[in-house]
Amino acid sequence: MPLIDTHCHYNLEPLYSNWPNHLAQALENGVAQSIIVGAGLRSSQKAVEIAQKENKLYAAVGIHPERSLKITDLNQSLDQLEKIAQNKKVVAIGEIGLDYFHLEKSQAQKDLFIGQISLAKRLNLPIILHVRDKEEAAYFETLEVLEKHWHFKKAVVFHCVSGPLKYVKKALDYPNSYFGFDGNITFKNADHLREIFQLVQKTAPHKILLETDAPYLAPVPWRGQLCEPKMIAQTAKYLSENFQLDLNKVYQNSLDAFTLSYKL
Ligand SMILES: [Zn+2]
Repeated sequence: MPLIDTHCHYNLEPLYSNWPNHLAQALENGVAQSIIVGAGLRSSQKAVEIAQKENKLYAAVGIHPERSLKITDLNQSLDQLEKIAQNKKVVAIGEIGLDYFHLEKSQAQKDLFIGQISLAKRLNLPIILHVRDKEEAAYFETLEVLEKHWHFKKAVVFHCVSGPLKYVKKALDYPNSYFGFDGNITFKNADHLREIFQLVQKTAPHKILLETDAPYLAPVPWRGQLCEPKMIAQTAKYLSENFQLDLNKVYQNSLDAFTLSYKL
């Protein structure tokens, strides 16, 4: 069964310096296509450069909320991002969003998020969201921002989805919402993630995507080690064995979310 890794970072070390080798191993493990996701201007540029070399790879470009405090001129950064996003291998804007786990809540984060939503609308591209919080604020504020600024005509991907079930339920109601599940769903203490997974599976199985987030979040039995893109096969196996996840359907979901079938 072919798999699509809808979120990985061949553009970040330690994968970057050896990406052709990691890609070859991913291909051997059934990964038919992958989306390399940017976290800042430089890694977005790298994502595009890698994707241009290999027709099974696509790029998402975006500025992660953690970069918000380092930006001195938001408009200039958005202009630079827009230039990178012109490349035809770019299939989404991401990863963008709100992170109150690593950073304090700030207007800078919100402005960066909203600016990139406008860019995605202008370029008619899906968005890939990074949302994290120790508590609940980032989750519900993300929904507020989306309801105010997003058009819901293209996919909005909740990457590595976490957060309160009430938030996930609201996000499930949105048109064209998708939910990315990663290797951390295999962790022993991940009952809450499995609960989210089962909620999405029961309500909207056509909204499930698989990701690695490599080099982060290696699934069991490699928890804590370098996550390699090939390890998506292990997460897929875990979900199909324990939750009867239909991998054929997930493959189709991934094509739909990023309209990849039109680019093959
Ligand atoms: Zn990521």
